[in-house]
Amino acid sequence: MLEKITEKFIDVFRSIGGKSSISEKNVEDAVDQIKLALLEADVNLRVVRRFVNATLEEARGEKVLRSVSPGQQFIKIVHDRMVGLLGDEHKDLALKGPDTQSVILLLGLQGSGKTTTASKLAYRLKNQGRKVLLVACDLVRPAAVEQLVVLGSQIGVAVHNEDTKDPVKVAMGALARAKRESFDTIIVDTAGRLQIDEALMEELARVRDAVRPLEALLVADAMTGQAAVDIAKTFDDKIGITGVILSKFDSDTRGGAALSLKSVTGKAIKFIGTSERPEGLEPFHPERIASRILGMGDIVSLVEKAQGVYDQKEAEELERKLTQENFTLEDYLDQLQKMKKMGSMKSMLDMIPGLAGQIDEDKIDLEGMKYEEAILRSMTPKEKRNYLIIGPARRSRIARGSGTSVAEVNRLLKKFEKSRTMMKKMVKNKSAMAKLMAGQGGKP
Ligand code: GDP
Repeated sequence: MLEKITEKFIDVFRSIGGKSSISEKNVEDAVDQIKLALLEADVNLRVVRRFVNATLEEARGEKVLRSVSPGQQFIKIVHDRMVGLLGDEHKDLALKGPDTQSVILLLGLQGSGKTTTASKLAYRLKNQGRKVLLVACDLVRPAAVEQLVVLGSQIGVAVHNEDTKDPVKVAMGALARAKRESFDTIIVDTAGRLQIDEALMEELARVRDAVRPLEALLVADAMTGQAAVDIAKTFDDKIGITGVILSKFDSDTRGGAALSLKSVTGKAIKFIGTSERPEGLEPFHPERIASRILGMGDIVSLVEKAQGVYDQKEAEELERKLTQENFTLEDYLDQLQKMKKMGSMKSMLDMIPGLAGQIDEDKIDLEGMKYEEAILRSMTPKEKRNYLIIGPARRSRIARGSGTSVAEVNRLLKKFEKSRTMMKKMVKNKSAMAKLMAGQGGKP
């Protein structure tokens, strides 16, 4: 999502950023292009106007035009305005401590991703040490209950469901159970409709009154564009929402909804859905998303993403192996698979400042990774544990087995040796790295 708009911004910034002096006309042209880019991305017209006028007003002034680096100043203004548009600061969930109950109510139209999001959120909060109960109150969509039960068992979270047509009864039952079995976090999946209708709103209001949620989050489908904004407004009027989760942010849509939601509804986007998988839910950080949109990358999310794949224990084990020189080809294969798990290369590269929007996925050596994996899989466990025994005969056997060549096997072994040395160095520098990451808001 948002790639198109990023390309446009990069173009605008490239043309204005390098200039040693810029005129009022340059600023106006740049702002015009930005206006077009925002409109093409389906951003709400009023939001675009406000953004454009404020940027123009600030950038036209003497302070910018006469400054030493006017282009950079201009980019900074656009960046700050974009952060403001997206909601300034990240708004976390307002949950109580573990000895009391916190209820999260998920609302939204049918198909918006409520059930999937419920399980993602449960997975996330469980990993933060909370004891989570999922509650199946979507008794309208066929199979929604079963879906939640299956998702719950996949992520190891209990699901409460009852054989009734009354969602309020299920909700009350869940609260009683949570008390009995000391669950501290209760996530309630509710029914949606294809469109907003009165009966649905009444039902949701009754569930809301029964569970008295700390968070009532609207799950809005990013693919619906501007409609997501209207839906958010209606749900807020009728039920009252505390924030929005924008699902399907990974889709190939224009992104206007993300950019308009906060300004129009006043409700913060708290999370974005980035895949169908349990780990595909990211906190929404306006600053980081703004940087990503403007092609400046998002290194902090990248670090966090890596931290999500590597848990603390694994990281320690890896470090131990590296310091004791026990890092083997088996571990290398493991790393390769982790890389794949982190998501598509393109989405990762887009988070790196300077590379955002500039890399064509076709040019990334995904094929190379596949070959490496094939080579590693053609080795015996003994070989993977001790690469030094892989002499010429073994090399040609491995090449045959993996459908590659001896040269490619040689290349992989060289690369392995090199990364071993490099990682060893990195471990030595780890304390410096830890400090850096703590400073950037990563997990300690
Ligand atoms: P509900 O009717 O609101 O409960 O919607 P579901 O949870 O069943 O989701 C509808 C469809 O959207 C399912 O196929 C989900 O897998 C998919 N989906 C939900 N969230 C995301 C997301 O963030 N990214 C992608 N790619 N698909 C999603």
